[in-house]
Amino acid sequence: MPRGKRWPDTPYQKLPLEVLSVDVLNRVIDMRAEYDLALRAYQGRIAQSELEKKSIERALSSADTHQDDVQNEIAQLYAQLAPFRVGVIGKWLLFEPTLTIGSGLGAAHYKLEAQPLIAKLNDAYRRWQPGTPKSSLLRQQLQDLETKPHFAPKREAKLRYQSQTFVFDIAAIDTEQLVRIIEKKEGKAALEKAEERNKHDRMQTALGQTKAKAAAYENKQRELAKTVRAALQRQLKDNPCCPYCNVELSSKEPHADHIHPIVKGGLSTIENMVFVCESCNVRKGTLTLRAFLRKMNYVEVEVYERLEGMGKDI
Ligand SMILES: [Zn+2]
Repeated sequence: MPRGKRWPDTPYQKLPLEVLSVDVLNRVIDMRAEYDLALRAYQGRIAQSELEKKSIERALSSADTHQDDVQNEIAQLYAQLAPFRVGVIGKWLLFEPTLTIGSGLGAAHYKLEAQPLIAKLNDAYRRWQPGTPKSSLLRQQLQDLETKPHFAPKREAKLRYQSQTFVFDIAAIDTEQLVRIIEKKEGKAALEKAEERNKHDRMQTALGQTKAKAAAYENKQRELAKTVRAALQRQLKDNPCCPYCNVELSSKEPHADHIHPIVKGGLSTIENMVFVCESCNVRKGTLTLRAFLRKMNYVEVEVYERLEGMGKDI
């Protein structure tokens, strides 16, 4: 069966890097750095263990070689002592050789010849320590080292993002790629912020311009009103009454009113302006004529007729 067709190559999920927030991406970078540290520590432990193993093996082999040499030496000494018929019990020698008479050599000669060899043999036995505590200790240490488990850091990492848990391979994370994505995201965010600010500024400007235009318009209408006011003087002669309340206007304080208010787009024309009493002018304020008449409970038709009679637009 072709591998990887039926099963995924890895049991890990792929992190949707492009979707993750900058905070989460930074967290992944931290996780990767921690993994790298743990991995380096693990590799250090393995290397250290290898070094120790080699050093113990060297010590053991030198101990073994040494023992081999001693063993050879003992064998040679035995060969040399053979003619003297030296008795041996275990590794212990019988110091006095059994002397055989009649070989042509005297006891003193035997002793003279054999004694140094016996001394050497004794010395060699003292040095020959097969399975000494030292070498068995080394062997035990070696075995311990070989069976000691080393745990590699887990590649499986978990991340929760928007109530979803991702199980991913932290070792497969490319930190540089994450940094690039973060930079892109931060750049984009900065651009969006700048654009938002520009938009706000443009709106503020537009609003300012509109306000300025409105103010200019109102100023112009009020300026115009002054000239129209002069033209209105005739009204006082023809009909010296307030067209709204029909009360006679005292000649000194007629108020020029915009029938359709300036703030609602009313113009300063002779057709839209009329002298009214102070009381009506103040009460009307920025109300439309209809709203004002209703508020005052005046008979609308009568007021309209009076205004039309004066040549006003209503
Ligand atoms: Zn009035």
